[in-house]
Amino acid sequence: MTDNLSETRDIIIVGSGPAGLTAAIYTARANLRPLVFEGALSSTGDQPGGQLMLTTEVENYPGFVDGIQGPELMAAMRAQAARFGAEFITDKIDRVDFSARPTKVWVGDAEYQARAVIVATGAKAKMLGLDNERRLIGHGVSTCATCDGFFFGGQTIAVVGGGDSALEEANFLTKFADKVYVIHRRDTLRASKIMQERSFKNDKIEFVWDSVPVEVHGDDRLSGITLKNVKTGERSELDITGLFVAIGHHPNTNLFVGQLAMDDASYLLTHRGTHLNVEGVFAAGDVQDRTYRQAVTAAGSGCMAAIDAERWLESQPHDSKIVTTPTEW
Ligand code: NAP
Repeated sequence: MTDNLSETRDIIIVGSGPAGLTAAIYTARANLRPLVFEGALSSTGDQPGGQLMLTTEVENYPGFVDGIQGPELMAAMRAQAARFGAEFITDKIDRVDFSARPTKVWVGDAEYQARAVIVATGAKAKMLGLDNERRLIGHGVSTCATCDGFFFGGQTIAVVGGGDSALEEANFLTKFADKVYVIHRRDTLRASKIMQERSFKNDKIEFVWDSVPVEVHGDDRLSGITLKNVKTGERSELDITGLFVAIGHHPNTNLFVGQLAMDDASYLLTHRGTHLNVEGVFAAGDVQDRTYRQAVTAAGSGCMAAIDAERWLESQPHDSKIVTTPTEW
């Protein structure tokens, strides 16, 4: 951790997934001495390193012929950033003020200032919003197969969703469970063809089409769910001991409400590359990407944000105290 926190830094990076760490590598190599707030473990699934910490094999990150484990990839990126002088604080920012320069962020009462900020806070798993769902997290309900799959040896479980996450989780879970239902609200999958083919070939996976869970049952532990067929309205019971919710993600932007411009799904709105509506504040990775959301695209946008921030800093007088006016969108 850095020992010189009272100074105004050139750059603060918020987030330590592929976007934040790539921005850290680039800004550190540009001698901007980035201070990275890498987050902290929380009960809602946040953790340093972002979503790849919850993944097993990453097969499509270029350069790894045989794939690489998500946590291993993140550890390597972090070490690479540290090697060039990036400094890390393992905590979550809980307040920001981007209305004037230097910009300010706080962790509790500790205030940190920077001339520029890169926001790379990523996204987190969506839930179905059913009664009992959150209460039974850790007791049969999960959003992370990598974290919890081990506990379901020999059991019958289900994954909800039809995207790459759902199928990746379902395939991974067949290492432990005897049977994995994939419950999808339509009759065609959103997932990539390769994941679809792999799942259709897996004898332990059975698809339940056109269906959504409408009730989650269980007192101390999950005991089953009620499904509804969205075409016929028919309801049925499914006895399962594990329910993995893999229906997409929500960007982590609560911290910036009222300060940064967002779209209707709360993703940050970038323009001219990675610039946001406040001068000197940039965004990278899933927090501003509702389309691609890949590790490699996050890393690419982290590089872009670092270059945009570096050029913007070069264009500013160093002791600038100018009050910034957010652009209206
Ligand atoms: P996603 O692609 O948005 O898929 C979400 C799935 O959940 C969709 O099938 C959606 O149904 C379903 N869904 C959403 N809300 C629902 C609800 N309330 N009830 C029931 N079902 C619901 O999300 P993702 O699978 O997390 O993937 C996100 C991105 O990461 C994608 O770009 C994906 O390619 C990428 N990814 C890549 C890999 C990999 O390459 N190894 C692994 C994981 C993820 P509809 O299809 O009907 O909308």
